[in-house]
Amino acid sequence: MATRRLYYDNAFEKEFTARVMHCEVLPPDVSAGITGKVWGLLLDRTAFYPTSGGQPNDLGKIGDANVLDVRDEGDEILHLVDRKPSDPDVNGCIDWPRRFDHMQQHTGQHLLSAMFQERFGLPTVSFHLGTEMCTIDLRGPEPTDEILEGAERAANQIIFEDRPVNVRYGTADQLARQGARKEVEREGILRAIEIEGADLQPCVGTHVESTGQIGLVLVRRCTKVRQEWRVEFVCGGRAERVARHDFELLRQTAEKLSSAPEDLVSAASRAIVERDANFKMVRALQERLAEAEAALALQTTPHSANGARIVSRVFEGVPADYLGFFGTALARSEKAIALLATVGDGHLVFAQHPSAGKDMNALLKQVLGEVGGKGGGTRDFARGRLSEGASTEKALSLAKEMLN
Ligand SMILES: [Zn+2]
Repeated sequence: MATRRLYYDNAFEKEFTARVMHCEVLPPDVSAGITGKVWGLLLDRTAFYPTSGGQPNDLGKIGDANVLDVRDEGDEILHLVDRKPSDPDVNGCIDWPRRFDHMQQHTGQHLLSAMFQERFGLPTVSFHLGTEMCTIDLRGPEPTDEILEGAERAANQIIFEDRPVNVRYGTADQLARQGARKEVEREGILRAIEIEGADLQPCVGTHVESTGQIGLVLVRRCTKVRQEWRVEFVCGGRAERVARHDFELLRQTAEKLSSAPEDLVSAASRAIVERDANFKMVRALQERLAEAEAALALQTTPHSANGARIVSRVFEGVPADYLGFFGTALARSEKAIALLATVGDGHLVFAQHPSAGKDMNALLKQVLGEVGGKGGGTRDFARGRLSEGASTEKALSLAKEMLN
């Protein structure tokens, strides 16, 4: 027996009475997040909206049972509930804040899609009402910022005019002649939603009664998804929450940068310029410090039997680049060889003056072969990194042994 859909005629019916026509235990549906025991319930009439036409299902209560999901099964609407109602005559009560939110987003979607199409020739090919964000996918050239803003403004203008939103019925042909935005190929009498003077669109969903109830449309990001342009938007209560949240982000970020929210862009630009300058300066200072340290190290390093001067050192608390600066500075001196490592993150640099006559790349590969790690380079300069747990001390003493 077909379930009578109360929401078709009155989307504002929050409570209703109905008779249980059928009730049976269903297997759990893990993919729908339903893991416990669940009953499938058919009623003679319902105000519960099933997931369909891009709009998510309602939640709420039927008798003392919680509604977990509502599904469109052709003529019937299946309610998934967490217990069997004790009485065959039940009161149904839908979670109204959730439903009204869906009605605001859904009607806002009709209006926004109509503005993109009518004003800018960009048809909507699909839409999605998410739990946080709603999206429509537009076909055509990339919508510019002016187009996104223009569609938003046009939609909000119609919201401010508080125009009626009507339900109309007709065949696909009749609706097409009346200027329906989307053509459908279904037979028989179709339901369509009209926003007076703005849009006519076949739809089975629930909508507000006048555009004023949409509250506001806020268009957000636009990104390319496959061949289409995905426009994010929110309406009504969500728009209020999103705007409040955005301002909180602005306020907190401005506080961090010690600026007023309206000066945030210039404050952020200044901070970035400063950061880049500091980065360059720190590198320059590191290079100079490495040169001074390398000179000092050479002074205190005796010549070995074959005349080479080997400086082996483990550094703590310096970036990997510092090893490079130090090794390069040291290798400018005749017969000098640098065997360098950082403790903790296990970076290695082996460098030599060509006159030392060894092969740093081969040496590094040999050491890493023994203790574990990756790296490589040239005959005079090689860098690598020890695998986790490998000892820097061991790596350097091994390198020293191999040089002798
Ligand atoms: Zn709709």
